[in-house]
Amino acid sequence: MPERLFVCTPSKLGAYADCPRRYRYSYVDRPAPPKGPPWAHNSLGASVHTALKNWYALSPDRRRPEALAALLKGTWVREGYRDDEQERAAYRRALGWLESYVETLDPGADPLGVERVVAVKTGVLAFNGRADRIDSRPGPEGPELVIVDYKTGRTGLDADDARGSQALALYAYAAERVFRRPCRRVELHHLPTGTVAAHEHTVESLARQLSRAEETARDIMAAERAVADGDDPDEAFPTTPGPRCGWCDYRRTCPAGAQAPGKEPWAAVEHTVDPAPGRD
Ligand code: SF4
Repeated sequence: MPERLFVCTPSKLGAYADCPRRYRYSYVDRPAPPKGPPWAHNSLGASVHTALKNWYALSPDRRRPEALAALLKGTWVREGYRDDEQERAAYRRALGWLESYVETLDPGADPLGVERVVAVKTGVLAFNGRADRIDSRPGPEGPELVIVDYKTGRTGLDADDARGSQALALYAYAAERVFRRPCRRVELHHLPTGTVAAHEHTVESLARQLSRAEETARDIMAAERAVADGDDPDEAFPTTPGPRCGWCDYRRTCPAGAQAPGKEPWAAVEHTVDPAPGRD
């Protein structure tokens, strides 16, 4: 019998790489343990992503900055904020990001894909993921694809973040196969600072990222098999406590996380939305 493929998304692989126990709570335990309350930074990110998706759904002649307020209002996710005042400040700031960002876009240019699912199978993985945007841009030997990922977090990003992102590399690998065009460039567009962090992959660097993803998949399948064979699930999916526990949805369930100080649901947007003088 051929081995079954491991069906995965970038977040599934990322969850295990970050903490096998978090992976177990998210994808193995059923019923899944209860999650903590929603995070404001997730709400903010989702609102901005959907507004940008809907921007491209407008006809090119309607892609004007004045359209953004209604787009953002229509997609706004309210959960997680400290109060109405903070939520309103977040909306104003997100609108400002979007207004500056669309200035950099050609309203007449349609990307090849917007929130486009790309999927690929290897000997180990059945990968699928939703890329924020896939551009087709002219290259020396014809059109080339570029993976674009929007970021709304507090801190800026650099070329090392783009180079090291397994998700972006897997999108590029999959897009190249789906569209049969080279896809080596990956970009992180950080809306709060208006900066772009980019990396040009090679065939080899994409292959390296893919083989790391396959290694993770093998580890996950081995842990799942061990549990099915009667091993202790706590040992098969160990905890890896660290600073991220404060942000973990399962902190209240996890014995390691229960000892970590928890973050307020709005903690990550506090400084993004109301920056201290000099940090804006
Ligand atoms: S609280 Fe920490 S150790 Fe526990 S599952 Fe979450 S990230 Fe892992």
